[in-house]
Amino acid sequence: MINELYQEIILDHSKRPRNFGRLEGANRQARGHNPLCGDRCTLFLKERDGRIEEIRFEGSGCAISTSSASLMTEALKGKTVAEAEQLLKRFLDLVTKDQPLTEDLGKLAVFAGVREFPARVKCATLAWHTLRAALRDPGAVVSTE
Ligand code: ZN
Repeated sequence: MINELYQEIILDHSKRPRNFGRLEGANRQARGHNPLCGDRCTLFLKERDGRIEEIRFEGSGCAISTSSASLMTEALKGKTVAEAEQLLKRFLDLVTKDQPLTEDLGKLAVFAGVREFPARVKCATLAWHTLRAALRDPGAVVSTE
């Protein structure tokens, strides 16, 4: 039952990604690539006074990578950079640790199941690695390999 709900969220966000497209006036940007699956993600952020005012992404990839990027942008809009860094760490824990904490992660918790599939972990984390680059090293191109 839970799994069906999770699959529905992933399907919904992969078919109709939120915050999709270029962001005019972005002041932070990075590109990510997952060669294993062929997923690509370009992330655009408008950050002011330490807060993410706008965030959008472009790219193409599998359902997991697209839905992860879509849900990530939903979760991060309006957050501070410090909160974004915290969420980044929690998400990486979620998909790599055996007993991650899922409280307060909201819909992002749907990705807990991918940790059993190492190849899919790269799909699910691509947008987040790209986020890290956009926050710490804008203009960077990151690869999951
Ligand atoms: Zn993928």
